[in-house]
Amino acid sequence: MDAFYFDGRSSRRHAARLDALPGCLSLTLPSGEQRRVPLADIRVSEPLGKAPRTLRFSGGDFCEAPQNAELLALLNTIGYRQSVAVRLQSRWRWAVFAFVFLALTTGAAHRWLLPWGAKIAAPHVSLSFMDRLSAEVIMMLDGQLLKKSRLDGARQKEISEGFKKLAVADPELASRQSYLRLYFRDFSQPNAFCLPGGQIVLLDKLVELSANNDEIIAVLAHEIGHFRERHAVRRLIQSSVVGVIAAVYFGDISSLLSGLTTILLELSYSRDMEREADDYAIAALRRQGISPIALANALKKLSAAHEKRDAAHENKEKRKDFRAIVSGWLSSHPGSDERIHRITTAASQAPEDSGK
Ligand SMILES: [Zn+2]
Repeated sequence: MDAFYFDGRSSRRHAARLDALPGCLSLTLPSGEQRRVPLADIRVSEPLGKAPRTLRFSGGDFCEAPQNAELLALLNTIGYRQSVAVRLQSRWRWAVFAFVFLALTTGAAHRWLLPWGAKIAAPHVSLSFMDRLSAEVIMMLDGQLLKKSRLDGARQKEISEGFKKLAVADPELASRQSYLRLYFRDFSQPNAFCLPGGQIVLLDKLVELSANNDEIIAVLAHEIGHFRERHAVRRLIQSSVVGVIAAVYFGDISSLLSGLTTILLELSYSRDMEREADDYAIAALRRQGISPIALANALKKLSAAHEKRDAAHENKEKRKDFRAIVSGWLSSHPGSDERIHRITTAASQAPEDSGK
């Protein structure tokens, strides 16, 4: 068949003739020069639509031939076999199968492999790095949303002491004790949240909503549970891995680093994590001689308060701005009813196996 020959040094093309022999290719140039190239020295490009195929030789020179039946017959005669991937690509059944397989494995990796990997990796993430990142988030929140707490010093001290008792009672937290800090802030919603660096922020409205200190301590115990199991770090790793993969594919790494704090703001915990933090709180409260019912009561009040707010906002246009994201995040404790039921059931059981 007719083809074009390139010597690999200049861009000039030469008309050439290709002949097939078993196990090798015979190349004839217009000058009359003839060469035999063994199959092992030829690399054939993958077919791409109607684009010409390239036959590269080991010396750096190559031929370009049209993608047609003649070329396929020639390649067949010299004994060239397409790679498995190319053969599969050309059959639509396999292409559909590969697509479905890829979608399923990606989904499974996201659902199971990623959380599993994040759980293993989380303890190895530097806490002082998380501390700095979280400090930045608090600064951002202080500048835009959160206000100075209106609670008086005596009330803050009372709550801080209860918080400290919770942390000290858990030997598992001994090495991370210094990272656990309580911040009092004021915001329009009642809540408490924990940042991956160990900063736990308690909002005034939650204190106002609570009937007694036990309910506040119960919520703080739940937040300590999130810190102890490194839930925020795990979620951060999960989101970052997805971000890294997207960045590699779309070629934008720089935005990823600046986006870490934004990722942190959009984090929410999974149901499993909430359950884990609840179980921790139940055991921690029992260690303090407080009934876990306090946590169920606090949750009831919180979810009622958030429902009221959601109802008030229902008719308004859904805004996806900074404030809306943060408000959503501050109330991201999913499945309240189910959790209240679990806690109430646990509270009614004998506490002998609470890990005292
Ligand atoms: Zn939670």
